[in-house]
Amino acid sequence: MRLSNMLISTLREVPAEAEIVSHQLMLRAGMMRKMASGIYNFMPLGLRVIKKIEDIIREEMDKAGAQEFLASAILPSELWKESGRWEVFGPEMFKLKDRNEREFCLGPTHEEVFTDIARNEIKSYKQLPLNLYQIQTKYRDERRPRFGVMRSREFIMKDAYSFDKDYESLDKSYNTMYGTYYNIFKRCGLSCQSVEADSGAMGGSGSAEFMVKSEIGEDEIAFCTACEYAANVEKAPSTAAVSEAEDLKPITKEATPNIKTIDQLVQFFKTTPEKFAKTLIYKVDDKVVAVMVRGDREVNEVKVINILGGAVSFEMADEKVVREATSAEIGFAGPLGIKVDTLLVDEEVSKMYNFIIGANDTGYHYINANYGRDFEGRVGDFRRVVEGDKCPKCGKSLTVARGVEVGHIFKLGTKYSETMGAQFQDENGENKPLVMGCYGIGINRTMATVIEQNHDENGIVWPLSIAPYQVIVIPAVMKDEDQVKTAEEIYDKLKSMGVEAILDDRNERAGVKFKDADLIGIPMRITVGKKIQEGKIEFKLRESSDIEVLELEDIYNKVKAEFEKKGIRV
Ligand code: ATP
Ligand code: MG
Repeated sequence: MRLSNMLISTLREVPAEAEIVSHQLMLRAGMMRKMASGIYNFMPLGLRVIKKIEDIIREEMDKAGAQEFLASAILPSELWKESGRWEVFGPEMFKLKDRNEREFCLGPTHEEVFTDIARNEIKSYKQLPLNLYQIQTKYRDERRPRFGVMRSREFIMKDAYSFDKDYESLDKSYNTMYGTYYNIFKRCGLSCQSVEADSGAMGGSGSAEFMVKSEIGEDEIAFCTACEYAANVEKAPSTAAVSEAEDLKPITKEATPNIKTIDQLVQFFKTTPEKFAKTLIYKVDDKVVAVMVRGDREVNEVKVINILGGAVSFEMADEKVVREATSAEIGFAGPLGIKVDTLLVDEEVSKMYNFIIGANDTGYHYINANYGRDFEGRVGDFRRVVEGDKCPKCGKSLTVARGVEVGHIFKLGTKYSETMGAQFQDENGENKPLVMGCYGIGINRTMATVIEQNHDENGIVWPLSIAPYQVIVIPAVMKDEDQVKTAEEIYDKLKSMGVEAILDDRNERAGVKFKDADLIGIPMRITVGKKIQEGKIEFKLRESSDIEVLELEDIYNKVKAEFEKKGIRV
């Protein structure tokens, strides 16, 4: 490709709307342009990267025995009503009606569709196992689209669905995908790790997320520094701290006028937050649920939702609901006499002695409360893990870091096949529900994450495997006929070798060309300058600051050697 013919518009300034490096660089390098909130158009350069990632995914999925499919992106509501998710998805789903008032949505994901395909097409165990995948645009009206294509409202996903005859076979399909995901991300130049993930209230017997550690990540990962354990904090079990045993003291009600927060209480009682148990009130669908955790802990909403068997909506209760439940102002909730549908008590609280709780009476708290003697509830693990909690595998300390989820694999089991009646006939002629798995990769998010991991102050440093072009050839002075002629020759020869090359034949100064080449992140740069008079040219890798001066005829072997080093075929 000749740059003079290419639609490329790099920006020197950092666009104000872009907060994170990958978003800034994708706009500055002209990879994409914003059209509306969370909606982007991909420019030629950006699209080439997307296609490279897709190609890697296709190769690896095909190698794993999966078959490519393409379902529609516009989906009839009936399927979603069958699974019960028409409501569950809530406002995140883009819904629309056709001219006959029939309801549809723009597919946010495709479990229902593939279950429907399976129930129509799979009749016998002889057709199993089967893994179908597609690379397709998904639509989600995210509450907070942000960071460019990290969380957008339209994005490309590779989603795959596996169908097996039993759980043992599902394990195999799942493990194959696990390995495939590692290969895919590695080939994209991404260093990521798998973490145990929540598999939701409906069960599903296993789930792993592929996370890239990053400050900008919206997920938190708890991982062990001593063993290989890593889990999303939503999933990671917390260990209840063991309080030192004390004799139980009589519970008494104390006036705590105008004191509402844990900090104020700590000051007032001249003690530490570990001596308090706070009671938080939530509205879960149409039920009111109170959760008690130690004063310095946070409630893990996912654990709460799971113990309740799932929820469509989950939010902090408003003032009115709190007043009804506690007969008091916000800030004085406690377990004694509270009027809620369910009282959940974190295990840690059930093991504390003589602690302070709200009295469900404005301006009062109880001191010396004790679980079992003064109140009871449903005890379990309801808190978020924190740094220093014990690793559930080896008992050493956990560390918490932020991460970006690029992929997710999930054992669905028979959740969809049972509700939607997707059955097959087994060896004995018996009808059984298909055992399913699903596997997703966010392609645009993967692209952005690669940039987060591969950039410097001058721009993107694409891994050779997914770079939009592999080599850029720059004639330094366009008026110099020798330089231009040699650059053209190199460019032609590289192309005939199968190298994806660009020739920067624009009438610009060399400095401008170098800046653009760095910004768009082309892995190899060949400059034809003054030294061509002695038959020499310059070679530079984007990832290094060294410039090598080479004999003209050596350049092709040099380029080949770089491909070999990176394990990429020319
Ligand atoms: P998140 O927790 O980040 O919202 P999710 O759990 O909703 O992700 P899945 O439904 O498992 O995501 O989708 C599979 C993959 O699609 C994710 O691993 C992620 O890479 C990508 N993805 C999901 N939502 C978005 C989005 N709004 N923008 C870009 N990529 C997305
Ligand atoms: Mg999501």
